[in-house]
Order: sequence, then C-alpha cells, then structure tokens
Amino acid sequence: MTANLRFDPIRLPPECEALRREVRAFLAEEVAVGTFDPNQPRYGDLHDRAFSRRVGARGWIGMTWPKKYGGHERSFLERYVVTEEFRVANAPVRLHFVADRQSGPILLKYAPEHVRMDILPRICRGELCFVIGMSEPGSGSDLFAAKTKATKTNRGWVINGSKIWTSNAHIADYMIGLFRTSPPTKDNRRYGLTQFLVDMKTPGITVNPIYQMTGEHDFNEVIFEDAVTPEDHVLGEIDGAWKQATSELAYERSGPERFLETFYVLIALVRALGPKPDLRSAEGLGRLVAQLHTLRRMSVSVNGMLQAGQEPVVEGSIVKDLGTVWERKLPGRVRELAAFLEPEMTNRASLEDQLAFATTMAPKLTIQGGTTEVLRGIIARGLGLR
Ligand SMILES: Cc1cc2nc3c(=O)[nH]c(=O)nc-3n(C[C@H](O)[C@H](O)[C@H](O)COP(=O)(O)OP(=O)(O)OC[C@H]3O[C@@H](n4cnc5c(N)ncnc54)[C@H](O)[C@@H]3O)c2cc1C
Repeated sequence: MTANLRFDPIRLPPECEALRREVRAFLAEEVAVGTFDPNQPRYGDLHDRAFSRRVGARGWIGMTWPKKYGGHERSFLERYVVTEEFRVANAPVRLHFVADRQSGPILLKYAPEHVRMDILPRICRGELCFVIGMSEPGSGSDLFAAKTKATKTNRGWVINGSKIWTSNAHIADYMIGLFRTSPPTKDNRRYGLTQFLVDMKTPGITVNPIYQMTGEHDFNEVIFEDAVTPEDHVLGEIDGAWKQATSELAYERSGPERFLETFYVLIALVRALGPKPDLRSAEGLGRLVAQLHTLRRMSVSVNGMLQAGQEPVVEGSIVKDLGTVWERKLPGRVRELAAFLEPEMTNRASLEDQLAFATTMAPKLTIQGGTTEVLRGIIARGLGLR
C-alpha cells in the first residue's frame, strides 16, 4: 500500500469563518431581491450573468490566483468556504463555476502569457463561461480514445469531429478541448492528444442540445467542422496532454460540490420533521449528518493539500467516489425517513416536490466527472493494488 495516501485533519482557520459570514450575508441579500430561490434547486443552479459579475466584484472568483491576473491570492480553504456556501444555497453559479474551478488553473499553468493576461481577469470578473471538451461518442471513461482531430495548417489548427455531454456549451464563451494531434504510438496509447483553448464563437462550431431526464437543458453535443483555433491557443505540450490531465482531476473531483448536490432534500427533511422528531427519524438524521461531516472533513483536507501545492489525485478520487455515492443515495434515505410523516404535515408537499426532482437527477452524480468504477480503478492503482 502506498505510504502517500493521507487525509490530514485540517481545520478551517478563523479567517474562513469571517468570510463565511460575509458570503452568507451576500447570499441573503440576493435571495431577498429575488435573484434565486434557495428552496428551488431546479431553478437554483441556472446561469445568471449579472449574478456572476456581482460574485466577481466581491472577489470570489479566481480567489487563489495571482493578483497580476485579476486573482486575489487567497487560500484554497477560503475558496472551499465560498464554494460550500454557494452550493448549500443553490446559488446560480453555473456561468463561472467551471472556469473558476479548473479552466483558469489550466490556463495559469499552460497558456502563453498574453492569453493569460487577456482571459484570466475576465474570468475573475465573472464575465466568462468555460466548458470541458473531453468526452466524445465512443470516448468517455477512456479519454485517450478521443478521435476529434486538430490539424496544423498555416491558418492555425483546424478542428473536425464532435464532443458530447458538454455541460453549458450553449452558454459558453470558451472550451478547453482535448483533441487528437497525432496517432497513438505502439508503446504509448496516451500519446497524440493536445489541449486547446477554443473560442465558442468560432465559425464551424455547432452546439446541439441534449435534455436531461428532468427536462432541463444543461448539456450538449458540439460539432466541429473545419473550425480554426489560432496557434497561440495550444495549451501545454503538443501530443503530451496526458501528462497534464492528472492535476486537473484533483481540482475537479475534490470540492464540496461533489457531495452537496442533493443536500436540499436533507434540509427539507429537517424542516418536515420539525423540532421534535421521533427516535427513529432522529437516529437516521444523525447518521446522515455524521456521514456528511466526515465527507466535509475529507474534502477540507484535500483542499489543504492543494493549498500546500500537492496534487492529491487519489485522495480527491476517494472524496468524489464516497461523496457522489452518498449524495446519489440521499434522496432514497430521506424518503425512508419521511415515510411515517403525516400526509397533511406542513412542509410535506415541499419535501415531496424536492425528492421527486432529486431522485430524477441523482443518477448523473456518479457518472459526471468520472464514473464510480473508473474512480475505484484510480484509487486501487494509487494504493498499489493493481
Ligand atoms: C451530467 C453530466 C455532465 C457531463 N459534463 C461533461 C462535460 O462538461 N464535458 C465532458 O467532456 N464530459 C461530460 N460528461 C461526460 C462524463 O465525463 C462521461 O459520461 C463519463 O466520463 C463516462 O463516460 P461514458 O458516458 O462514455 O461511459 P463509458 O465510459 O462508456 O462507461 C460505461 C460504463 O462502463 C464502465 N467502465 C468504463 N471503463 C471502465 C473501466 N476501465 N473499468 C471499469 N468500468 C469501466 C463505466 O463505469 C460505466 O458504468 C458529463 C456527464 C454527465 C452525466
């Protein structure tokens, strides 16, 4: 077993609690003026350009990035608090969330300086929506099977092919896409892929909607037909993107958004049970809260490691595996605990409504960002078991 797997018992420092109060006050003001309804998750996670700009103006996008690029040089633990509060409130962060979480850090590491100076400050101001262009028909878990091609010409790189399940592509300004620039080699099937920054307004890009079971439109198919992206939009090493992929996954998989997506049903249950739940309900609720607390401590720990400059890919995968399985099962557990509530009880209708929505959307939670089976493969490898 590897000696490197660890979850240090990191606590959020006192400055995080002051920040938490600030964020809560901001969100309460936004709720009061009707920007969003925290009790309506189906509407709560939609994008809102004006809201994202207000979040940017508060300094809560690009929090950990250098000031030179519009960032705020704050800690990953402070960023953790902001993410947690926004998620618990069902705030409409969809427009800026991916750019803040993972596209910005990729650009910081791999984009040429003039591209960083152009784009990162706009992300920090809440002006840009980024999407992840990895999955393709026939290439989901196995990213290295990607076929969509980028071919070098004297006009720049010409892209042909398609991406699928691209969340938010219909509202996006930019994609960070993974494209095939050379065939794989005999001894390295991961070879031959390159990451590119792609302006979604580029001629030759078509975005077609794909609807969720809930009826919502949040992901898409993206078709590329001779779409040209300039030479200076190559990110990192040509043909060597596999070396870049791992650090991105640590950012993508470890945050509180990986166990809080159905949290609203727990809140609705607490409201429905009222201040004096029966023993059975109180025990069940206590168990769920204890599990949530543990997940939270693990996620804070991973963010502490990111703060220390580490790449906790295995620990991040463990948080995502345990967290998404927990949040996926949560609606079922809440339904069991609510089974004996009187039909006419106050708040029962709102609980039923939220359970219906959570149950329909929950299957996606253990697929997006890497499936349970794939994560367990990564964890097993990290533990030296395969
Ligand atoms: C809501 C949602 C949003 C998404 N947003 C994006 C996005 O913005 N950008 C993007 O690029 N992608 C996105 N995805 C795609 C997501 O990353 C893929 O669906 C996921 O990686 C799985 O790929 P797949 O669907 O092709 O399934 P497959 O890879 O075909 O897997 C099918 C089944 O086989 C299992 N399996 C596959 N390989 C292995 C293995 N090696 N060992 C054991 N079991 C295995 C899987 O666990 C799964 O159960 C999104 C998906 C969802 C559900």
